[in-house]
This record gives sequence, structure tokens and C-alpha cells, in this order.
Amino acid sequence: MSADSDTAVVGKHCSRCGEWKPFDCFWRDSGNTPPYFSWCKQCAAQRRADACEANKRRCVVEPAEGTENAPNLYVMCLSIDPLGAQHGLKIGRASSATIRAQALGASMPFRVQVLAELYGLGHLEAQVHATLAGRRVVGGSGREWFHVSLSDALHAIATVNATQQISTPQCGLQQDAPRMHQD
Ligand SMILES: [Zn+2]
Repeated sequence: MSADSDTAVVGKHCSRCGEWKPFDCFWRDSGNTPPYFSWCKQCAAQRRADACEANKRRCVVEPAEGTENAPNLYVMCLSIDPLGAQHGLKIGRASSATIRAQALGASMPFRVQVLAELYGLGHLEAQVHATLAGRRVVGGSGREWFHVSLSDALHAIATVNATQQISTPQCGLQQDAPRMHQD
């Protein structure tokens, strides 16, 4: 390390941003030599903010987006259309259907209601979508909306689940379940 014993020096380079800054731009590291942290205050604050942001992403946003490996399968509707006659029902996967519904509702003027959440069946999503492909809502609302009744949706899910249980050994490991190609 560099020799910090030179008392004439009034500042130093930050080891993160590389800028030379006066010592009062660094937090004091009490009881330590050298007596200042190697990062400037600005870098330290930035680092804290980044860590905070990353934490928030992990806790809140991840269940809403990036749901490829989410464990649960859900069926949702818009609160103004509980039978899905106008807008269809949304079938997808999430870690928490409730959090997912809240996130979706935040981006539109309607609430999104969870009609069913099937724990541990998230891996069936692609096959359920394929089964219901002919009933997919076209235009607008995204690829997860289907013109089906709740009982049709649950029937499709149950059928796919039954098929999978026959074709895969019941060892409790989902890793080996056949993966459908996502479109
Ligand atoms: Zn810095």
C-alpha cells in the first residue's frame, strides 16, 4: 500500500472512482491506519444506494418479473370482469400471485384479482398455455390472457398436471420435468 505517513498530504485518491480528493471527502476510519476509508464519501454513498436498490429488486420486483422459475401457477381476472367474458383470464406463474396481481394492478386502472393459485405447479405454465392456445386473447392484453371460464382453466391445468405425473417419475424433483420451449 502507499505510504500515508506523509502528514503534508491533504488528500488522496479514492480507490473506487480514482479521483484525487481532499481528506474531508473521505469518512474517517477511527482507530485504523490509514485513518480514512479508501473510498470517498460519494462512492460510499453510491455503493450503499446500489446495494439498497439491488435488495429492493430481490424482494419486490422479482416475483413480478422474471418469473421463469416461479413455483406457483395462478389464474387471475380483472375486478370489473370476474368471469373473464370481456378480457379473458390471465394464467401465468409467480412466486406470489398476490404480489404479482398488485404489480399488474398498479399499471392499469383496474384491480387484478387472483381466482386461483396452484402451489408448486408453476412449471406447467408453458404446457397449459399450449393447451389453451386456441382460446388465447388476440390483440392488446399480452400473451397470458385466455377466453376461458375458470373451470375450463382449472380443467386444463389438472389435465396437464395429470399427463406430467404419468410421464415423469414421482421423485419430487422438478428439474427433470420436460421443458417446453417458450415463445
Ligand atoms: Zn470516489
